[in-house]
Amino acid sequence: MKAALLLALPAMAWAAPAGGSPMRVLTSFYPMYVMTLNVVGGTPGVSVECLARPSTGCLHDYQLTPGDLVALTRADVFVANGAGMETFLDKALRQAPALRVIEAGAGMELVDGGNPHIWVGIGGAIAETRAIARGLATADPARADAYRKNAADYVAELERLRVRMHAALDGLKHREIVTFHEAFPYFAREFGLNIVGVIEREPGSEPGARELARTVDLVRRSGVRAVFAEPQYPAKCAEIIRRETGVQVALLDPAVTGDVDPAKARRSYCEAMERNLASLVQALAD
Ligand SMILES: [Zn+2]
Repeated sequence: MKAALLLALPAMAWAAPAGGSPMRVLTSFYPMYVMTLNVVGGTPGVSVECLARPSTGCLHDYQLTPGDLVALTRADVFVANGAGMETFLDKALRQAPALRVIEAGAGMELVDGGNPHIWVGIGGAIAETRAIARGLATADPARADAYRKNAADYVAELERLRVRMHAALDGLKHREIVTFHEAFPYFAREFGLNIVGVIEREPGSEPGARELARTVDLVRRSGVRAVFAEPQYPAKCAEIIRRETGVQVALLDPAVTGDVDPAKARRSYCEAMERNLASLVQALAD
């Protein structure tokens, strides 16, 4: 038995793909999935998966399922946003104590007493992409060069997007906006927008009559030109706000949901920001 094992070992080592052993990277939710896919690129032997379904959105109050715990124990590396987004992280680490965790937002300066939506600002997405690349390079040194190169390419793309967005947004006369859920302070800071009201609501739930009345009141008091709902917000409710207040309801996407298909997911953040840019210009320009 012992001899058979000794014989088997070199064969296993031989079977490992060039460039290191297989690497299973699990990401917590969609924005981490998108950034990690861009950092990994087509590197052989590395798989990237998303723990929460891509339709989940933010992980505020997310509860781990038994299937999630199995996925966590099987992963080599877990990529999380940190900054309080994954409230289940302590529990996850108790279940899978050997799991290596990369917190993309670790050590970053948080606004508004610890708002975790760092990636919604493009500067935040750039910093988190770099942090993921550093973490993966440390966890998997054999592929470190590939992670660094892919991250540099993606950061360059994000930088070009940021320049284009500044060129279009810096001259806007109207800069006051009302948003849904507190996802946009980093985005607003980046582009000099002023969030005068946040309609706090449970993501994914239908707003009730009282919430709609409160929203209408907030929009009237704030005097803004447009209210920015998220793409998941029911169009019927947006229409009620528009009718009651006379302001248009435009969309602003925190880039927390999208297609699981890696080729589509890789592009989804930049595409969401392009739509945000068009939406802002349309709503706030004279
Ligand atoms: Zn959120």
